[in-house]
Amino acid sequence: MINLILFGPPGSGKGTQAQKLVDKYNLLHISTGDLFRYEIGNKTPLGLEAKSYIDQGALVPDEVTVGMLRNKVEANRDVAGYIFDGYPRTIPQSKALDNLLREKGEEVSKLIMLDVPDVELIQRLLNRGKTSGRTDDSNEEIIQNRIQVYKDETTPVFDFYHAVGKAVKVHGVGTIDAIFEELSCEIDNL
Ligand code: ADP
Repeated sequence: MINLILFGPPGSGKGTQAQKLVDKYNLLHISTGDLFRYEIGNKTPLGLEAKSYIDQGALVPDEVTVGMLRNKVEANRDVAGYIFDGYPRTIPQSKALDNLLREKGEEVSKLIMLDVPDVELIQRLLNRGKTSGRTDDSNEEIIQNRIQVYKDETTPVFDFYHAVGKAVKVHGVGTIDAIFEELSCEIDNL
């Protein structure tokens, strides 16, 4: 089984690349951001709670996120593998993922980080905000906050998997196809 973590700051292209990887490797794409937006769209209690954090560019509390992720994985057991996109974003989330996979006799195969400079991220997110309707993409202050949260709370996740030899970086600027080639190489080398 391939259990891939697609990692990187907001706007680094995880969603775009995940879609292409799903088609090539037949994996299940689990994006916690998409799961939250689905809950928000349906105005569920979980969605309403998540929205208050997301609109500020903050992380949703771990206990909410971890439970939602577990439900999604447990509802989709017979798959060739998973692409985790936007998860884990904290060390407790990483430990929860490791435990969940261990229960299935599995482990994280690799974490691939899409490396993109801040100036490029801000441009991409402001552009996306013009058409996505995402409230968290519409305002530069919220975007800056998301990038800061990524640096403070999420980059330790890279180090956590790097310490066990599972984390690599891929340059995330260039054409979508060129970046996809690099990601495919990393997966083919598993
Ligand atoms: P992006 O990577 O562009 O920031 P996402 O769609 O992955 O966008 O996430 C949007 C928002 O959803 C995040 O800013 C955060 O508030 C919330 N979120 C998504 N995944 C997580 C997570 N694993 N833990 C906590 N909050 C999360």
